[in-house]
Amino acid sequence: MHWVDVYAEKLLKLSDSHLVQSGTGISGQPHLGSASDIIYADGIHKAIIEQGGKSKAIWIMDDMDGFRKVPGQVPKDFKQYLGLPAADLPCPDGCCGSFVEHFTRPFLKNLERIDVRPEAISVAGMYKDGKYDEVIRTALEKAEEIKTILYEVSGSKKADDWLPFFPVCEQCGKVLTTQAYAYENDKVQYRCSGGVAGKTKFPGCGHEGEVGIRDGKLPWRVEWAARWSHLGVTCEPMGKDLAAAGGTYESSKIICEKIFNSQAPMPVPYEWIVIGGKRLGKSVGRILTIGDMIDIVTPEITKYFFFRSQPASHKEIDFEFAIPKLAEDYENSERVFFGDTSNVPEKEIDDIKRSYEISQINGVPEYASQVSYSHLTSLVQTNLNPNGEIDWDGIKNSLYRITGEYTIFDLKTKTTGEVALKWLDGHAPENVKFSIQKDMPEVELSEDDKRFLTALSSAISDIEWEASQIHDTIYETSQTCELKAGACFKVLYKIFLGKSRGPKLGFLLASQDREFVESRVKEALD
Ligand SMILES: [Zn+2]
Ligand SMILES: [Zn+2]
Repeated sequence: MHWVDVYAEKLLKLSDSHLVQSGTGISGQPHLGSASDIIYADGIHKAIIEQGGKSKAIWIMDDMDGFRKVPGQVPKDFKQYLGLPAADLPCPDGCCGSFVEHFTRPFLKNLERIDVRPEAISVAGMYKDGKYDEVIRTALEKAEEIKTILYEVSGSKKADDWLPFFPVCEQCGKVLTTQAYAYENDKVQYRCSGGVAGKTKFPGCGHEGEVGIRDGKLPWRVEWAARWSHLGVTCEPMGKDLAAAGGTYESSKIICEKIFNSQAPMPVPYEWIVIGGKRLGKSVGRILTIGDMIDIVTPEITKYFFFRSQPASHKEIDFEFAIPKLAEDYENSERVFFGDTSNVPEKEIDDIKRSYEISQINGVPEYASQVSYSHLTSLVQTNLNPNGEIDWDGIKNSLYRITGEYTIFDLKTKTTGEVALKWLDGHAPENVKFSIQKDMPEVELSEDDKRFLTALSSAISDIEWEASQIHDTIYETSQTCELKAGACFKVLYKIFLGKSRGPKLGFLLASQDREFVESRVKEALD
């Protein structure tokens, strides 16, 4: 059974109604990996409904978390906001209402492109609206017990007067710098003497004061538990590190049970995505996002990447080198779905079909893709209009020369062509990029090259214009001339592409007009 269905089944044994939660800290532009728990949560949520249960998917914006580090996409002077709750930061480009809105709106828009639409909830809003009032009171009253739990699970020792609450300082506005030390009648007394987050110190302003329980936040482990309890969360994907023994989940689970008398949700541990070719991310100086991935592989292939294996299995993606292989794996799953199971072990068939099905955005199509992603990467390069757009009539003619049939392109094929072109423009390695040179490139031909081209010129004049015949004729001609086949292919790449290598030559030449190919060979000999 596919893993989303396994989780759904387990959850439905516990209850027939579920709340599947995911969450993201808003510290800048969310990278590709930040989308994974939201996507997994959505998959499980939909599987619960398919199995007849009730379910809702929510996404928590952790916007009360203190701003710790100025990310690359934000002006340097944002360091003045370090220590403030993310919710209190302005938009870095002045284009919208706030820092949080600036980064979450496009993130959610991109998730909509893959039909992932959780209800978004702002943590800052929950505090301000008093949704956390009850759990905060409970936490403050049971501060000693919480302290003991945190010490027993994670060994963290707190000061004697420690309280599980971080007020937002009334003087400097920071949340990472305050310590609460007394609580009575919904009022918390604190001092702003500085704090540490990770390894970074955040100096306080020295202010001492008193705030209400809506003007601050709970410490992370307590807040997580409070949220599960308050909202009734039943399932939540989380990074493997959080789910590990002694990790955040374990302490939050105990706090949830003992302090808030609630059940902790079923954890779905997942592996962080390794984005290969970090070099690329760094040199371009920007973060790769879920939107970037959808742009270069279609929404369906993007989803397939997340659902084809268990969340806890190794997941790596390299925008430069791994994209055509990912597309090919997806196309294989499509063939399996449509009945071609010849190359797949029996026990994997059902999971592959289900992964394909879950990855669809507008329901399962009536038929498999017409042209593969890798074939399209070649076809779009040889069929570009002068303005850089894809010439679909040109591709139609190219394919006709190769297959003898006229293809009418559906939306799916057109989308795949568009995303393949974006991959070529933005990420593809140089060795897969090429273009048919309209004018004869500068090439120095050896005597052997000339001998080969002369022989080829007559050999191709009476063959059928078809990929494998062209390929075989080139090969046989190289043998008749007693030359190395590799060198002969190379000279052809040079006179057509101006490079020493390229896509499969038989297909490349077959996709071109025959007269053009014949005249280019003759021209090279002049
Ligand atoms: Zn903005
Ligand atoms: Zn302060």
